[in-house]
Amino acid sequence: MGATLHQAVTLQFKATNNQVEYEALIVGLNFTLSMAVKCIQVFSDSQLVANQVNRAFETKDEVLKKYLQQAQSLIAQFEDFSLTHIPREENQVADRLAKCWIDRILDFLKDGIQPDNRQEAKKLKLDFAKYILINDELYRKSYAKPLTKCLRLEEAKEVMEAVHKRECGTHARGRSLVMRIIRQGFFWPNIHKDAQVFVEKCFQCQYYADMHRQPAGYLKPIHLSWPFAIWGLDFLGSMPTAMKNYKWILVTVDYFTKWVEAKPLTHPTAQNVENFLWANIACRYGVPMVIITDNGTSFANQWIHDFCGKHQINLKYASVRYPHTNGKAETANKNILNILKKRLDSAKACWPEELPGALWAYNTIPSEVTQKSPFSFSFEEDAVIPVELEHYSPG
Ligand SMILES: [Zn+2]
Repeated sequence: MGATLHQAVTLQFKATNNQVEYEALIVGLNFTLSMAVKCIQVFSDSQLVANQVNRAFETKDEVLKKYLQQAQSLIAQFEDFSLTHIPREENQVADRLAKCWIDRILDFLKDGIQPDNRQEAKKLKLDFAKYILINDELYRKSYAKPLTKCLRLEEAKEVMEAVHKRECGTHARGRSLVMRIIRQGFFWPNIHKDAQVFVEKCFQCQYYADMHRQPAGYLKPIHLSWPFAIWGLDFLGSMPTAMKNYKWILVTVDYFTKWVEAKPLTHPTAQNVENFLWANIACRYGVPMVIITDNGTSFANQWIHDFCGKHQINLKYASVRYPHTNGKAETANKNILNILKKRLDSAKACWPEELPGALWAYNTIPSEVTQKSPFSFSFEEDAVIPVELEHYSPG
């Protein structure tokens, strides 16, 4: 039985290729000795190191002699040791660890360094043609899309963290998370796999994971052709009692753009609903043509009827027989509730303060189906979110 342990080491001094091969061997030996390994088989793609360690030939180089001595004193501590030379192509694991992908591309673009193998060099040349160097930063070109900035693994982790969790994070997963990262102008290889692993490690995502998940469907026809004309209206609650006794959230969703507006309320009263419809909807997005809601007492009363009559709003109630009339609002509400649940985990009674950020996050996340966010539907632009400013990208 064997296990594969990956380790890459950066040498902070200048060294020849042969010295580097010895350094790698010595690091590996020290590492395995520290784990009390007694028997070891070493595979190296360096013919020279293999031959010298196996005493097939001697070295006259003074520095390499010292390396060999040090290696041999370590080898002596194993009960069983063998070192086999394998050609470079078979040692792909070592190759992959040897260099960060960005450095390999930079080597090529800046200094023209390429692999000895002609076929491999040809393939890399084609591959590397997708990249461009601007002010010492690497960008990836693509058809019909802006340049995306190439990130090293550590930077990629920060961006995933920011896009997934921080101010504007919605704990987006899968394609939605990847799409958002790319739209913010960032790229690295394995972005899909890395994003998946990242989400699998997110505590809140695992804790609040939905038990049933529907796959992303195809576009459903929308029977309306312009934004902010039909709004779904709903209450979320009751929430944990918060500052100023807020206990409810009044939520409206525009059927066309899926833009969401919401407000924390102390009581789900008709007066509060009317104020909200006037201040948060009519005064911002124009008087709606239709409002669709359920039969809840806060909506089905004279006060709301009068308000809608005065402004010539067609007030429709989701039918009990066809409860899906209000499906969009319900889905959006469920999403919001999920986002809030995840984000409010630590905020608890401070949920009203978290609400604006959660709304912003929801309004700027692209849908998996349309690849557009409510924000980009409404304003035909992508919103600027904080992570773009930290890791400046041209997107
Ligand atoms: Zn998460």
